[in-house]
Amino acid sequence: MSELASEPSAPGDHVVSRFVVHRHRARRLHYDLRLEMGGVLVSWAVPKGPTLDPAVRVLAVHVDDHELGHYDFEGVIESGYGRGDAIVWDWGMWAPAKTADPVRAVADGELHFDLMGEKVAGRFALIRSDPIRRDPRNWLLVHKNDEHAVRGWDPETLPRSVKSGRTNEEVAAD
Ligand code: MN
Repeated sequence: MSELASEPSAPGDHVVSRFVVHRHRARRLHYDLRLEMGGVLVSWAVPKGPTLDPAVRVLAVHVDDHELGHYDFEGVIESGYGRGDAIVWDWGMWAPAKTADPVRAVADGELHFDLMGEKVAGRFALIRSDPIRRDPRNWLLVHKNDEHAVRGWDPETLPRSVKSGRTNEEVAAD
């Protein structure tokens, strides 16, 4: 089966791409988790931010894809829905787990993946779930109980940009 050996993304291969988490003070503070796939940044707005605590499930609202050029954006957004300021809160590489087709996994509403960032790492899952309102934008973000898990871990204790070392307040003032 020599054809199989040359397949670039056969099941089990690690397709590694970039991820970023922006800390975005808009009308409400939230974190934007963005995974590079299919030539865009597929994005979820996470009001409470990602956590390494495997006991916590946080809401992640699936929002519009962003262009790859937004990857390391840091600054003030003057107008529009996102009006406010944003920092590159974390960045690094990510790889899908249990699938070689993450675009399909997102369409199907369940994506398992590994993050390799400076603040967050380990196995996460995004699962489309809103049993009460049944809003298809509403997903849950969870961290598996792996060697990177930390009980009680709070993203707000690490407020500085991994790109510039600045806080949101410092970016807004500059
Ligand atoms: Mn945002």
